[in-house]
Amino acid sequence: FNAIGEEREIDREEFTPGIEPQPTWCPGCGDFGVLKALKQALPEVGRTPEETLLVTGIGCSGKLNSYLDSYGFHTIHGRSLPVARAAKLANPGLEVIAAGGDGDGYGIGGNHFMHTARENHDMTYVVFNNEIFGLTKGQTSPTSPKGHKSKTQPHGSAKEPIRPLSLALTSGASYVARTAAVNPNQAKEILTEAIQHDGFAHIDFLTQCPTWNKDARQYVPYTDVQDSDDYDFDVHDRVEAQEAMRTAEEALYEGEVLTGRFYVDETRPSYQGEKQRIGEMPETPLAERYFDDDYEWE
Ligand code: SF4
Repeated sequence: FNAIGEEREIDREEFTPGIEPQPTWCPGCGDFGVLKALKQALPEVGRTPEETLLVTGIGCSGKLNSYLDSYGFHTIHGRSLPVARAAKLANPGLEVIAAGGDGDGYGIGGNHFMHTARENHDMTYVVFNNEIFGLTKGQTSPTSPKGHKSKTQPHGSAKEPIRPLSLALTSGASYVARTAAVNPNQAKEILTEAIQHDGFAHIDFLTQCPTWNKDARQYVPYTDVQDSDDYDFDVHDRVEAQEAMRTAEEALYEGEVLTGRFYVDETRPSYQGEKQRIGEMPETPLAERYFDDDYEWE
């Protein structure tokens, strides 16, 4: 059964546009891994292209919705989350996914990231983290390591990188995970969980950029924190999750790639749930009221 109760198989190829060109990402780009995982995850949760909205920001990652046959909105730099929030509020029946790069999401749209997490909007947010601005030819981004040399920081970055997992947790996200394009099975599993999660699900998706990241970081070998005996923490415990995130964020720049679920809170209501609870959100979604000629507006 799909999400609206139809009994039919949903095939990942339904999400492949018939008329668009093939992806123009560079050979070896991690962005291919996100696209593949997304095409696998959506049928897994029973969503069809007509039930899915993909909102993207600016950057190589922003091309994602050209290659996924769903509703799409390619918005301006750093603004995928406000557009995604508005769409979800107007039509809660849509499966809303927002996506963008680390510069787009953690830098230019950083404020939106914090507040969408704080308000726990029901959507999935995929951040392609390649530690660089790729589309504009390799400038330092908020996740570039300290000392990283680029055209904008020729003497090496003097800045500490942002800690996206910790930022998501402290801002209020109810699902926080990290996966990597080089780990397709885990990527699909985590995306599936994130889409099914009721609330704001943030995925820091490590996507290598072999063209502009001069360190040629490929994020291998990686360790799944759920599979490894070296990491034992309760993803439902905020304090333990915070400590695990701190370990993962420091390890990344020392060459150890830790991926997996870091925090899951299934008890906190989403923003939409809270709005309905206090009576601010009518049961009939705005999108349905708008097209209902008989609806009596107050
Ligand atoms: Fe991918 Fe980097 Fe090429 Fe952009 S520039 S498509 S991020 S490899």
